[in-house]
Amino acid sequence: MRPITRSALRPYVCPSCRSSGSLGRRRFGSKSNESPDVYDVVCVGGGPAGLGLLAALRASPVTSKLKVALIETQDLQKARTWNLDSTQYSNRVSSLTPSSVSFLQRIGAWDHLDTDRAQKYQEMQVWDGETDSRITFDWSMETSPFEDLRTVATMTENANLVRALLSRISESGDENLSIFSNTTVSSIENGTAQPDGPDLSAWPVLSLAPSGSAQSHAPARIAARLLVGADGINSPVRRFADIGTEGWDYNRNGVVATLSLAEPDSTPFPIGTRTAYQRFLPSLGGPIALLPLPNNHATLVWSTTAENAAYLKSLSPKAFIAMVNAAFRLAMTDLKYMMRMERPATATSDYEDSHESELTWRLQHTPQADHIPPMATGVQEGSVAAFPLRFRHASTYISPRVALVGDAAHVIHPLAGQGLNLGIGDVASLSKTIEYAVDHGMDVGDLLTLERYTAERWATNAKIGGVCDMLHKLYNVPGQGPVAWGRSLGLEVINRLPFVKGLLMKNAEG
Ligand SMILES: Cc1cc2nc3c(=O)[nH]c(=O)nc-3n(C[C@H](O)[C@H](O)[C@H](O)COP(=O)(O)OP(=O)(O)OC[C@H]3O[C@@H](n4cnc5c(N)ncnc54)[C@H](O)[C@@H]3O)c2cc1C
Repeated sequence: MRPITRSALRPYVCPSCRSSGSLGRRRFGSKSNESPDVYDVVCVGGGPAGLGLLAALRASPVTSKLKVALIETQDLQKARTWNLDSTQYSNRVSSLTPSSVSFLQRIGAWDHLDTDRAQKYQEMQVWDGETDSRITFDWSMETSPFEDLRTVATMTENANLVRALLSRISESGDENLSIFSNTTVSSIENGTAQPDGPDLSAWPVLSLAPSGSAQSHAPARIAARLLVGADGINSPVRRFADIGTEGWDYNRNGVVATLSLAEPDSTPFPIGTRTAYQRFLPSLGGPIALLPLPNNHATLVWSTTAENAAYLKSLSPKAFIAMVNAAFRLAMTDLKYMMRMERPATATSDYEDSHESELTWRLQHTPQADHIPPMATGVQEGSVAAFPLRFRHASTYISPRVALVGDAAHVIHPLAGQGLNLGIGDVASLSKTIEYAVDHGMDVGDLLTLERYTAERWATNAKIGGVCDMLHKLYNVPGQGPVAWGRSLGLEVINRLPFVKGLLMKNAEG
């Protein structure tokens, strides 16, 4: 942890009222002497977590008058005007739990979301590709026929959510609000005591610069009573606060794509029920998941080795679709064989892909389960991409005048679709903490104020990140040995005990 400044002293005394003295200095970058603009809350990062915090602060009558700023390297104007044809979907999609959705509703952001592009699902089919043991998460057992089916999660494009949050923030007016887009935080340091101004020696002061050649109207320096790092995995705010992280790289990639699906073979019961599918493929490095989008589309997240990811990305659309269909249907040996098949040097549209014919032939000899997804029939052009998968957890989420939220605080394996949900949970908790402080005349940046936030979130996030990590490790042991047997026993037992299953589903529900 970094050297602590006077703001950590008890009892609390406002830093502006303290006389200057020698302080432990913290710094990320170089120093300048210009007098900075002063804000109550400065949030670095305009991803879903940072914008969620800003929207929450603006939505509450208690915190709406705080002077707040948000700094984002990217061009937020592009995010505001993001628009895709109704037959196309972004490949960055998150499954939002009902508690994330209800938070977004509470702060008025959900009304700004294009809900025609979001898709709820009520059922999950999860099975082990090695042992075939499975677990069905289906709310229809839990609800009466007269109740609406309960939602497991709502698939939402990240860009749709970001646009909704920006629209909600702009609806709150521009009084006391500054959004500096196209602006990068180039350095952060502790301020200094101004001879005829406030004592900022315990306050983070940020130096801002236009991103690349972009236009930015940001001041050169701003000071924060509370600095929030919503600035992603490589968080400069976390570095400034000298907060360490624990973690590792999984040496796996998440291959994502937008797919179109064939009509399901049978009408789902109850009508309108949508299902998410996940099959663990231990010999290929992780699970493949197909999550529903509107109009018979789906988003794919296939966690696999970097080598397999590079292979999948290099395939023609036909071969890629054949691999996805194979991954939900074929035995592990068949799949491993197809993952090593030679790729043709050039693929033309009428070329009969060898992966496709291999799949057709092998399917004739493979009995099919009834819980598999409909066949993928198309892949949206340009939607296949791969992201490295990592685990990181900050040792704490707070430091004097600093708080971390979202991926700046934790990055987890996406196999349970929880990363952004944890970030939204952080934002809900931190905004409540700030609200409480304002309501009780406390300093929003004081450690005493912020302790409430880290106490509420750290252990919860550690638990969920740990479970995802354990599942990743458990489902990466190939073959039919004792680990696979233990896995299948675990899934079968859970599947037969409605009480335990209900508990798990409620946890997934958020
Ligand atoms: C394959 C995959 C699938 C996933 N699926 C799901 C899912 O189904 N459900 C789910 O809940 N989560 C999912 N996640 C996780 C989710 O995408 C992330 O947790 C979430 O996007 C993180 O949001 P964030 O706002 O915390 O960070 P980010 O989106 O990383 O935003 C950080 C922002 O900070 C800005 N920034 C950084 N440095 C600076 C600087 N110096 N100055 C100014 N700005 C800066 C960046 O430009 C960026 O916009 C998935 C992740 C992956 C990889």
